Amino acid sequence: MLEVSREPIRDLAALDTAHHLHPFADMKELVEGGVRVMTRGEGVYVWDGEGKRYLDAFAGLWCVNVGYGRREITEAVVAQMDALPYYNSFFATTTAPTARLAAEIARLAGPGLSRVFFTNSGSEANDTWLRMARVHWATLGQPDKKIVIARHNAYHGSTVAGASLGGMKHMHEQGDLPIPGIVHIGQPHWYVEGGDLSPEEFGLARARELEEKILELGPERVAAFVAEPVQGTGGIIVPPASYWPEIQRICRKYDILLAVDEVITGFGRLGSWFGFQHYGLTPDFCVIAKGLSSGYQPIAGVIVADRVADVLTNQAGQFHHGFTYSGHPVAAAAALANLRILEEERLVERIRDDIGPYFAERWGSLADHVMVGEAVSTGLLGAVQIVIDKATRTRFSRPHDIGMIVRNFCIMRGVIVRASADRILVSPPFIITREEVDQIVSTLRAVLDYVA
Ligand code: PLP
Repeated sequence: MLEVSREPIRDLAALDTAHHLHPFADMKELVEGGVRVMTRGEGVYVWDGEGKRYLDAFAGLWCVNVGYGRREITEAVVAQMDALPYYNSFFATTTAPTARLAAEIARLAGPGLSRVFFTNSGSEANDTWLRMARVHWATLGQPDKKIVIARHNAYHGSTVAGASLGGMKHMHEQGDLPIPGIVHIGQPHWYVEGGDLSPEEFGLARARELEEKILELGPERVAAFVAEPVQGTGGIIVPPASYWPEIQRICRKYDILLAVDEVITGFGRLGSWFGFQHYGLTPDFCVIAKGLSSGYQPIAGVIVADRVADVLTNQAGQFHHGFTYSGHPVAAAAALANLRILEEERLVERIRDDIGPYFAERWGSLADHVMVGEAVSTGLLGAVQIVIDKATRTRFSRPHDIGMIVRNFCIMRGVIVRASADRILVSPPFIITREEVDQIVSTLRAVLDYVA
C-alpha cells in the first residue's frame, strides 16, 4: 500500500486548493478552510492523510454500498484492463462485460424492463431518457408531447438538463435554468409542508398536483413525469404511502411516461433491488448509477421499458445520442463484480430482514431528542430533521447553518454524515454492523446534546 507521510499531504492539500475547482464548493471558503485529503478505505472506514479514521456513514456519496477495499472488484478491473482496457459500443461492437452487465441489470429489473442504455453518470442518464421520451412520442406521431414534469427540491444531476429536471432553486439561479419544456410541482415533504393535513391526505394532495398540472398543460403536451422514489439530496424525504400509487394511476390515465431516478435507491438501498419494486411501480425509465458499481468505477445508465425500447428499436431509426465511454468495459467489469458481491453476500436481503429493521429502530430512537422533529428511515437511508420547537415544527431561522454545525461536529467525532439544510442524512454501506449503527446513532445524539 502507498504510505503517505504528513509533509506531502500538506503539499497535496495546497496543490489542490491552488488548482482544483471542486464540485458544489464555495472555492473561497475551501481555500481558507483547507481540504481533507482522503487516502484509503477498508470496510465502512476511510482514513485521511493525517491518519485519522472515520466511519463513513454516507458511503462516499451514497455509493460505496459493498464497502471499501473489495479485492474481488479490484481483480475484475485489473483483469479487464489487461484483456481490453477500452472499446466503444458505437459501431456495432460491444465487449463481454458490457453485454453481460446489460443482461444482469435486465434480470434484476424484472419483466418488461429488458434494455439498458449506458452512460458515465446519473446526470447523463437523465439527459438520455429525456431525449428518448421525446423521440418516443415524436415517433408515435405526437411531436408536441414533450414537456416533462418534475418536482421542487428534487436532484437529478448537474448537466443542463439534469439540473433543469432537478428542483433545486440555488441551481436554477445559476445559468438560467430550467430550460424550456420542464416544469415542477410540489414534493411530498409532509413534515415541512404538510400543515394540518395527515401524512396520507398530504401524499394524495401532492400526487394530485400532477393531475392538475397535466390538465393545465394538456395531456397531449406532457411526455413524462420524473421523480426519485425517495428524494435523496433534498433530504431523504420518504413519501407518505398514499403518494406513489396515485402517481402511477395518474401517469397511466393520461399516458404519461414514468421515469424513476434510482441513482440512490437502485441496487438494494431500500431492501429491494429497486425502489420501483419497493413501491410496486411499473416505470418506463429507471435511472441507475452509484450503487451499480458501488462507486468503484464511474458507470450509470437508463433501464428502458420494453414498450418504449420497442418503439425506439423498431420505428425510430438511429438514436443520435451516446458517450465515448458508454458501457466502458472496465467499468462494466467492476459493476459485474459488485453485483456478484451483493448477490453472494445477500446484502439486499440483509437490509430487508436484518440490518434495515435494526437501523430503523435505532435511528428512530433519536426522535425523542429535544432538537429532533422527526427521525425517518427506509432501508439504509436515514434523516433527522432538526427543529427549534418540536410542538410547532418550527425550524431554525438559518437552517443551513445549524445543519452544517451538526454535520461538522459529527465528522470531528469520526462519523461522516451529510447535511441537507437542517436535515442530517446517513446512507451507510450495506455491510455495516449493528455495533457500527449504534456508533452512528450515539455520535449524532452526543453532538445534538452538545449543540442543544
Ligand atoms: N439523480 C440522483 C437521484 C442523484 O442522487 C444524483 C447524484 O447524487 C444524480 C442523479 C446525478 O448523478 P451523477 O452525480 O452521477 O451525475
